[in-house]
Amino acid sequence: MTFKQLGLAEPILKALEEEGYENPTPIQEQSIPILLKGKDLLGVAQTGTGKTAAFGIPILHHLYNSNNNSNGRRRIRALVVTPTRELAIQIDESFTAYGRHTGLRTTVIYGGVKQTKQVARLKQGVDILVATPGRLLDLVNQGYITFRDLEFVVLDEADQMLDMGFIHDIKKIIAQLPPKRQSLFFSATMPKSIVELSKKILGEFEQVTI
Ligand code: AMP
Repeated sequence: MTFKQLGLAEPILKALEEEGYENPTPIQEQSIPILLKGKDLLGVAQTGTGKTAAFGIPILHHLYNSNNNSNGRRRIRALVVTPTRELAIQIDESFTAYGRHTGLRTTVIYGGVKQTKQVARLKQGVDILVATPGRLLDLVNQGYITFRDLEFVVLDEADQMLDMGFIHDIKKIIAQLPPKRQSLFFSATMPKSIVELSKKILGEFEQVTI
């Protein structure tokens, strides 16, 4: 299996080649076709499996192919929520790398630093937002972020987010998202609390376990 056989847009194939990615990893091979069909996904997988590209590539593909707003203001069409600043920065870097020939713009927000620069980036307009839960909710409450045009939400490392006490923030964020959206839920473990949370977020979904 090659990335080309998955039917991905040319600018994304070019970026993957530049990254030195020759073949999809197992989670990518299984998840990308499901996501390209527009289905919700429950992914049971750890970091290190190529999980970021498994969700990043099909999101970029879709946003690139249906980008009919090139002259208008950018609006947030994809949101990735992840527990830590380190993960958020890594995911932002991955989207930026895989999307470098698409013209799509990604930015990252996280707590523990002043919000000024993050707000300035948001005001310039972004297509994809990567965030940790606390800062995300904070900037939503201040009116800097709206989800009116949201098409994709990814909850990454959901078990870790629950362990860190982010459950209320996450529920508040999810409540603000348009119901018509594609939802992706990733967790390394699946205790009962996570199964319950996944049911609140996902519609009819397919599961991939690595
Ligand atoms: P992740 O699980 O998303 O943190 O990815 C783990 C590492 O695998 C990262 O350094 C990626 O750059 C790398 N990676 C992801 N997909 C591929 C691929 N298809 N081929 C080679 N390396 C990859």
